[in-house]
Amino acid sequence: MIDIKNVSKWYGSFQVLTDCTTHVSKGDVMVVCGPSGSGKSTLIKTVNGLEPFQKGEILVNGQSVGDPKTNLSKLRSHIGMVFQNFELFPHLSIRQNLTLGQIKVLGRSEEEATEKGLKYLDRVGLLAQKDKFPGQLSGGQQQRVAIARALSMDPFAMLFDEPTSALDPEMINEVLDVMVGLAQEGMTMMVVTHEMGFAKRVANRIVFMDKGYIVEDCSKDEFFGSPRSDRARDFLAKII
Ligand code: ADP
Ligand code: MG
Repeated sequence: MIDIKNVSKWYGSFQVLTDCTTHVSKGDVMVVCGPSGSGKSTLIKTVNGLEPFQKGEILVNGQSVGDPKTNLSKLRSHIGMVFQNFELFPHLSIRQNLTLGQIKVLGRSEEEATEKGLKYLDRVGLLAQKDKFPGQLSGGQQQRVAIARALSMDPFAMLFDEPTSALDPEMINEVLDVMVGLAQEGMTMMVVTHEMGFAKRVANRIVFMDKGYIVEDCSKDEFFGSPRSDRARDFLAKII
C-alpha cells in the first residue's frame, strides 16, 4: 500500500534521509521511533508529498508520490494525517472543522458531511462538544477531534506524527485508546511515537531510525526482544 524505496533527501547540503526503504501493507500498524532529529517526521511527510525528496521512489497504492503528474491533493485527501499540534481551525466550530474538508475536497453535501463528521465525533466520545470551538477543548479532546476529522475523509491509511507528545500526561491515554481502537479495527497506520506501550500493544512492525537511516525494520517481538543494532538497544534502554 505504501512502498518507500531507496529514498534520500537533503536540506541544502545536509542529508536528512539516506537510502530509506520500507513498506506498509494493508492492515499494518507500523511504529516509527528513534532519537529526536533522526528524520522520523521528514520520512512520514514524504509519504503524502508534504516533503519532497531528491532520490528514490514512493508508491502509494501504486501511485508515485514524486511524479509531477500525480495529483498530490487528491492523494492526500485519502491519507489521514494527525500532527503533534492538532492543527484544528481555531475560528471554526468543531462541527465545521469536521465538515470543511469533506465539502471542499471531497465535494460532499453539507448534510452528508455533517452526518459522517458527527458519527466519527461520537466515536471518539465527543459528540456533545460539536458546537464548541477548539480553544474550549482540552488538548486531548482537540487531538481526538483531529483524528475524527481525518477519519471523516474515509482515508485508506492514517499517518500520525507524535500525536501525544504535546499533551499533558493525563490526556495521553484518551488519545492512545482511540488509536488502539483504530488499529484493532484493521486501519493501516504509520505512527511516529515514543509511546512504547502503544507499540507493544498494537504495532506489528517497528522501524527504528537514527541519523536519517532506517536502522531496524522488524517485528515488534524482534525489536523489543533482541534488537540487532547497538543504537536501538541504547534507545530502548533510555526510553523504557
Ligand atoms: P525527527 O522527527 O526524527 O525528530 P525531523 O525529521 O524533524 O526529525 O528532522 C531531521 C533532521 O532534519 C533534524 O536534524 C532537523 O534539524 C533537520 N530539519 C528538519 N526540517 C528542516 C528544514 N526545513 N530545514 C533544514 N533542516 C531541517
Ligand atoms: Mg519529529
